Formats: sequence, structure tokens, C-alpha cells
Amino acid sequence: MAMANNKTQCFKCGKNKITYSCEGCLKHFCLLDLIEHRKILNDELNHIINNYDQFKQTINEQKQNPHNHSLIRQIDRWETNSIEKIQQKAQEYREIVIKSLQTFINDIENKFNDLNEQVKQFHIENEFNEINLNYLRNQLIEIKKERNNSLKISIPQDSSPFITDISSFLSKKTIKTTENTIDLFTN
Ligand SMILES: [Zn+2]
Ligand SMILES: [Zn+2]
Repeated sequence: MAMANNKTQCFKCGKNKITYSCEGCLKHFCLLDLIEHRKILNDELNHIINNYDQFKQTINEQKQNPHNHSLIRQIDRWETNSIEKIQQKAQEYREIVIKSLQTFINDIENKFNDLNEQVKQFHIENEFNEINLNYLRNQLIEIKKERNNSLKISIPQDSSPFITDISSFLSKKTIKTTENTIDLFTN
């Protein structure tokens, strides 16, 4: 009976025993249940260690292979899509230019054939003077000029781009990730 005062109720089993208090949860446990309580805490710590290890591994993978980051893959997609758009447009424009060039060359050819016919006639009939020769000379110069001018179409280099510029998005994203590095791994 002298020991009775030393006994308190164990939080786990509810029996009055010699108990030990846990400084974390401030509850009292008998020796067996204290051992069990410590085991549970130990399991929880192991679980946390696992999570830390997993995160460490994520960081290491990120460091070793930065090309796998979703941001890089987004840039890859942007690159592919932009190239596809440019190729599509280039093909459209080539077809337009080829079509109009064909029409244009046909016109030039018709004009040239007319003149050539006149040259032949002058030659066959042997009836021409300086005025005719001048005319033929000038007409050929004119027709050459016309042909050359048609090929002098320049494409403006600084016209507004039809592909999306992602630089503003990138700078926002970069600022965000330097403020909070964890953001890099949540994607
Ligand atoms: Zn107990
Ligand atoms: Zn405790």
C-alpha cells in the first residue's frame, strides 16, 4: 500500500500503474505502453525521413536532368508548334508566289512573243529603219525591267510575329521560382 501514491492511470490501458510522462503530448503511460508510444513516434519519424529522402531524390533528379522540367517541355512544345505554324504559312506563301509568278511569266512571255514575231517579220521582209530598231531595243529593255521588278519583293523582317512570344511568361515564372524554389518541383 506504500507504493499506491506512486501509481497513476495510464493513458493507454487505463490501469493504475507506475507511469512515465511523455514531454511531447504530456500524457502518462505505463512502461509497456510507453514503449509502444515511442514505437509509434519512431514510425512517424521514419515516415517523415522517407518523405525527406523522396524530396531529396526529386531535387537530385532535377539537378542531374534539368531538361525534363515541365517548363522545358512547354518550351519544346512552343518550339514545335511555332515551327509548324511557320512551315504551314511558308507553304501557303510559296503556293501564292508560284501561282502569281506563273501568271506573270505567262504575261511577259506573251508580250515577248509578240515582239519576237515583229523582229522576225522585219528580218524576213528586210524592211526596217532606225526607228524600228530603236523601238525593238527599247521594248526589250522595258520587258526585262518588268520581269526584274517582279522578283524584287522583299519580306519585311520586323513585321509583327504571328507566333506567340513567351518571354514575358518566362520572366514571370522565373521570378516566381526564385521566390519559392518548391514551386519548381510541384509541376
Ligand atoms: Zn498502460
Ligand atoms: Zn507522447
